[in-house]
Amino acid sequence: MSEKRDYYEVLGVSKEASESDLKKAFRSLARKHHPDKNPDDPDAERLFKEVQEAYAVLSNPEQRRQYDMFGHDSPGGSPFGPGGFQGVNINLDDLFSGGFESIFSGMFGGGHSSRSRRGNDILLRHEVTLEQIFNENEIEISAMLSAPCESCNGSGAKSPNDVQTCSTCNGQGRIMQQARVGPFVQQMVSDCPDCGGQGKIIREPCTECRGIGSVKKMQTLRIQIPRGTEDGLRLRQRGKGEPLQNGQSGDLYIQLEVDSHAWFERDGPDLIMALPLGFPEMILGTKVELPHIDGKPLVIDIPAGSKPSETVIVRGRGMPYRRGRGRGDVTVLLKLYAPEKISKSMRSTLEELRTDFGLPMEDIESMVRREAEDRRG
Ligand SMILES: [Zn+2]
Ligand SMILES: [Zn+2]
Repeated sequence: MSEKRDYYEVLGVSKEASESDLKKAFRSLARKHHPDKNPDDPDAERLFKEVQEAYAVLSNPEQRRQYDMFGHDSPGGSPFGPGGFQGVNINLDDLFSGGFESIFSGMFGGGHSSRSRRGNDILLRHEVTLEQIFNENEIEISAMLSAPCESCNGSGAKSPNDVQTCSTCNGQGRIMQQARVGPFVQQMVSDCPDCGGQGKIIREPCTECRGIGSVKKMQTLRIQIPRGTEDGLRLRQRGKGEPLQNGQSGDLYIQLEVDSHAWFERDGPDLIMALPLGFPEMILGTKVELPHIDGKPLVIDIPAGSKPSETVIVRGRGMPYRRGRGRGDVTVLLKLYAPEKISKSMRSTLEELRTDFGLPMEDIESMVRREAEDRRG
């Protein structure tokens, strides 16, 4: 195992770095190492986590002071608990908007105020069709999610009289502990063990929610989906995750998974499809109409003299660009359609055609030569 790197070194800042220096360094490194940006780099995930951990600690004044004093060997073990730092899922978008800050500020159990306590985040996968992400900018999602219990108003107690202020912590939810570490007496703030950080004790729990204060309920959410949504995009709904008594609710992440289309394959803003055509259509040219995701028919104009495996591009009829205006293209790959069985009359027509259209057998060598030259460009 390699030695754990110094947090300041990880972020590439000096020990005197200000809060905004740290944020700037974190933002730029997190963007650089974000796994979505580096799908083929096995190291990205590790570097991304390393940067997160360094920022989580240094952006918290209490944790930073502790780190400056003790380095990685903080008394009481890792500030992230026995499992160490686990990493956080951060949207690439959040790194631009600053939405990552609340994730880190709620990270340490022994925070300064009860506002920093957060419930768990929830990840919900939701399938959408290409048509949906093209036509709708708002979708409805139904899911079993936590909601405050109505019979106790979220208090978790059977009646208001059943809620008592915790005497150990005087309702603060936190207690100060002192520990001797070598020459130091270290003061640590931690959750009150008697009330579990709630600040109150429930004598008789609510029967509806069994004292949790919330119940799982089928809920319908209206979600805004951005233009040109890519498969796997995560949208965050702040405060829609697991609730926490006396704390902030976690966040709900909705991961959009785009269903495969009956004939389109997607390549960023472009759509790709294969179109089977008979030999006469290729030679003479034709127009083909197909129903399209934008509601208007997709007219594909096949020019006369087309050949199999050539492509026809219909400009501006693909998916919308993620940023800016406009749409990608539809690329149509031409395939030769050959019927498996032919009738007698078709056979004789084809025999006739062969005399007119077939390969001039005496020129075969020069034609093969030209074909090879074409392919080499
Ligand atoms: Zn209840
Ligand atoms: Zn207490």
